[in-house]
Amino acid sequence: MKMKPLALFGGTFDPIHIGHLSVAWEASELLDAEVRLMPANVPPHRPPPTASATQRVDMLRAALRGQSRLAMDTRELERNGPSYTIDTLEELRREFGARPLVLLLGADAFAGLRSWHRWRELFNVTHIGVINRPGIEACIPVELERAVAARRTDDPAVIRTETAGKVIELSVTPFEVSATRIRELLAAGRDPRYLLPAGLFDDPELLAPYRAIPSP
Ligand code: ATP
Repeated sequence: MKMKPLALFGGTFDPIHIGHLSVAWEASELLDAEVRLMPANVPPHRPPPTASATQRVDMLRAALRGQSRLAMDTRELERNGPSYTIDTLEELRREFGARPLVLLLGADAFAGLRSWHRWRELFNVTHIGVINRPGIEACIPVELERAVAARRTDDPAVIRTETAGKVIELSVTPFEVSATRIRELLAAGRDPRYLLPAGLFDDPELLAPYRAIPSP
């Protein structure tokens, strides 16, 4: 019996917003896959997220309540320090045997793939699903295109029957929203209610890390 592919969608999720959820949901439908959102530790040379790892997980949990297509995987936060994607995917491969795995990447992230640690080895353990993202210029370098051309497929059935090694473009409904924009709105005292999942408004503590501290 064939198992549903397992797709991994990594990010900082500082905070999770409707762009993340909509993309993950549509990828799950297009691939008939279980999708896990996988919050990342941030490397020391990058600006730290505004919310702590625990707060980001609490927001993800609130955002995912009430549906069963999308889940969360906190394995990267449970390790000390940031993880290389290849290490995480190799661990998942050991855990899931021959189940198809799909790494979901925004087109901007995919364009920079050649700078990733052991990037060519990713194809031994996972497929890659490339997601379009509006407002972000993502030009695939010629060398990368050359390296992946033979791996490209536009047939989700191939992703379901093979274990790893393919690249598929996933055309999803564009949502021009970013966590940066949402942090700016909250810090300015605004209330971006419809850019965030409703669950984030259930508990006022969830968005507190981003709100401007009222002056005394
Ligand atoms: P920030 O503005 O803080 O950089 P972000 O909104 O880009 O955050 P991340 O947590 O960095 O969110 O993104 C995780 C993944 O989600 C990345 O692969 C990113 O390309 C993708 N992503 C984020 N927002 C969108 C969107 N609106 N449409 C499509 N993909 C998105």
